[in-house]
Amino acid sequence: MSEKIERIKTLIIGSGPAGYTAAIYAARADLKPVVYTGMEPGGQLTTTTEVDNFPGYPEGIDGPTMMVQLQQQAERFGTDVRIGMVTAVELSDEVGGIHKATIDDNKSIEAETIIISTGASAKYLNIPSEQRLRGGGVSACAVCDGFFYKGQDVAIVGAGDTAAEEASYLANICSKVTMLVRKDYMRASKAMQHRVNNLKNIEILYNTEVDEVLGDQVVEGLRIVNNQTGDKKEITVTGLFIAIGHKPNTDIFKGQLDMDETGYIVTKGKSTKTNKPGVFASGDAQDKEYRQAVTAAGTGCMAALDAERYLATIETPEEVG
Ligand SMILES: Cc1cc2nc3c(=O)[nH]c(=O)nc-3n(C[C@H](O)[C@H](O)[C@H](O)COP(=O)(O)OP(=O)(O)OC[C@H]3O[C@@H](n4cnc5c(N)ncnc54)[C@H](O)[C@@H]3O)c2cc1C
Repeated sequence: MSEKIERIKTLIIGSGPAGYTAAIYAARADLKPVVYTGMEPGGQLTTTTEVDNFPGYPEGIDGPTMMVQLQQQAERFGTDVRIGMVTAVELSDEVGGIHKATIDDNKSIEAETIIISTGASAKYLNIPSEQRLRGGGVSACAVCDGFFYKGQDVAIVGAGDTAAEEASYLANICSKVTMLVRKDYMRASKAMQHRVNNLKNIEILYNTEVDEVLGDQVVEGLRIVNNQTGDKKEITVTGLFIAIGHKPNTDIFKGQLDMDETGYIVTKGKSTKTNKPGVFASGDAQDKEYRQAVTAAGTGCMAALDAERYLATIETPEEVG
């Protein structure tokens, strides 16, 4: 006899700020959500020490503690949090259709609605000294961590619009920003290049890469190398920002959900609706613009409300948007 497949109302994929906020709202609306945590329970904030900009924490809070609290809040209303990775999905095209997901390649689950909160991963240089000092002066988020380097000298790696945007942001806070560009030109738009070129405290070094991040517990400097001449030199900085892009964790939805050219899920208008009825996307997986915990939480709330309304209108199909 074949095993009965579990069927639930709302499956939430991912346990970052978007997933747990969706869970709080979905659980309170009696959607009995099940959250699968994925490979990084608590999401990206578990990789950072200090979160200073999430509303409600006047003294700041460390990322892992904040995410444990979000989980506890979701569980207080009955969210079923499970360790596991969604490894495949089969999304229905029908309004009121049942979506299927595979957990850890070996368990099937069916859901009336799915909220995707799988986040995005920042790309790093992947040199050992950079990895060792992540959270000790190496950061992939200038808006999140720039403030900690107020009045100090920092460096940023990258040459696109985001790098230029983040360099300008840092230039407002820090004494000096050294921008390291691998090629002999920047990829950023002319307008963004103009902006960084006009900020007196930004120095751009072309054909330049990080050879090693210096420092034992915290960043104390960089050894940089000119990739044309091989010349190396050391610069003194207390922070290194990596701005070479993000990869949304959306591979399992490819071919089923509409995405932009870099893999971010496309949502409709001001909603979290995807192109599949009953499937909603929230957080960094659908947002390449803001990528903050509070915006992820905001869209998690929206996704749960969209899911609740969708389920309510299935009985009166003419109202489904
Ligand atoms: C170093 C660092 C510091 C930061 N500091 C701040 C800050 O101070 N303030 C701020 O507002 N923002 C900060 N951010 C940004 C913030 O962390 C993100 O914007 C936010 O976490 C995005 O939330 P999310 O829920 O969309 O995704 P994430 O936090 O990325 O969580 C994604 C979740 O999805 C899960 N997942 C992925 N794929 C699957 C799958 N197939 N099956 C099941 N689960 C899956 C992962 O395990 C994870 O739990 C920082 C980011 C970094 C990297």
